Amino acid sequence: MSVRDMVEKDYYAALGVPKDASAADIKKAYRKLARELHPDKNPGDAKAEARFKEVSEAYDVLSDESRRREYDEARALFAAGGRPGGFTGGRPGGFGAPGGFGAPGSAYGGSPNLNFEDLLGGAGGGGLGGFFDMFQRSSPGRGPRRGGDIEAEVTIPFEKSLTGLEASVRLPGAATCTTCEGSGARPGTAPRTCPTCRGLGVVSRSQGGFALSEPCRDCLGKGTMIDHPCPDCRGTGRREREQRIRIPPGVSDGQRLRVRGRGTPGERGGPAGDLEVTVHVLRHPIFDREGSNLTITLPVTITEAALGASVRVPTLDGAPLTVKVPAGTSSGRRLRARGRGVPMSGGGHGDLIVTLEVTVPKPADLSPRARTALLEFAQAHPEDPRAPLMERMEAGE
Ligand SMILES: [Zn+2]
Ligand SMILES: [Zn+2]
Repeated sequence: MSVRDMVEKDYYAALGVPKDASAADIKKAYRKLARELHPDKNPGDAKAEARFKEVSEAYDVLSDESRRREYDEARALFAAGGRPGGFTGGRPGGFGAPGGFGAPGSAYGGSPNLNFEDLLGGAGGGGLGGFFDMFQRSSPGRGPRRGGDIEAEVTIPFEKSLTGLEASVRLPGAATCTTCEGSGARPGTAPRTCPTCRGLGVVSRSQGGFALSEPCRDCLGKGTMIDHPCPDCRGTGRREREQRIRIPPGVSDGQRLRVRGRGTPGERGGPAGDLEVTVHVLRHPIFDREGSNLTITLPVTITEAALGASVRVPTLDGAPLTVKVPAGTSSGRRLRARGRGVPMSGGGHGDLIVTLEVTVPKPADLSPRARTALLEFAQAHPEDPRAPLMERMEAGE
């Protein structure tokens, strides 16, 4: 995330959430938009694709507590235009430092400030053993420490949820670009010091007797300028992180997959954390799922329903299936093709459930001959299907 991004992009507006939105609201807004705008759902729609990228980028930043804070601070600073006492330049390691805004571990994010009473008198007690456990966990520079878990999301087409696939998962946050080692400059070149602010990232001007410092507009506060941007990160020095993971067949919408050891690397020989991926499955125009069963609604004509017929059902795994519609079928009847559903984790497949729906021809679609035939049918079969209902009501049941 460059300073330019922080200043120019309104990530809250991109997600349509207020500035004080909770993490849960941000996640909810992102999921909804990501589903609507996913490229698989909007093939060839460049506008949707651009929005999808914008939304993903906004979520990357706002879903990461420390990056969100960094972003909020940067924007507040720029909105204020650099006030006396607020941002008065000359702070080494602050704003104009190479590598960006807010040095890691400065001001925030230090180790938690635990004190002895808190630990011993804490809820649940735990005695001395508990104290030492906590001490060990919270104290840096001790034994091996397990790396953190990483949460990520991936959206896949419906068909792929049945077959499984190897998917690329975008991880939140970005990693330092390895090509330019984060400088943003093409290998063999180097960023040069901004001549306007002489590398400070801020310029001073006087207004009404005050000396005001404001972010340098030429380098956008970076203090450096890049003449030859790195081709792999386009000068940002950061690159999206991706991991390829195997998604097993039969995964359902909202399912979480835990990939052991693919999270943040451990410290001092500790094991890596896990990568936890929430899978979103896009809806299919024809098929749906009920657990491990695949479902489809299949239209049949009046005569097929009355007289019985063999009809073809589309499938997702190749050739259409032929099913027998029994004579005298009403709308809503369900037929079951065993083993033609969703692969199950324990082996085997669910069923394909075909719900029959009797379609009635529209008057405009009826030829005079078909209409005559229907009238003849009505005469030949003078049935009142409501008679039993009337009788029951009259009998006072
Ligand atoms: Zn680069
Ligand atoms: Zn400058």
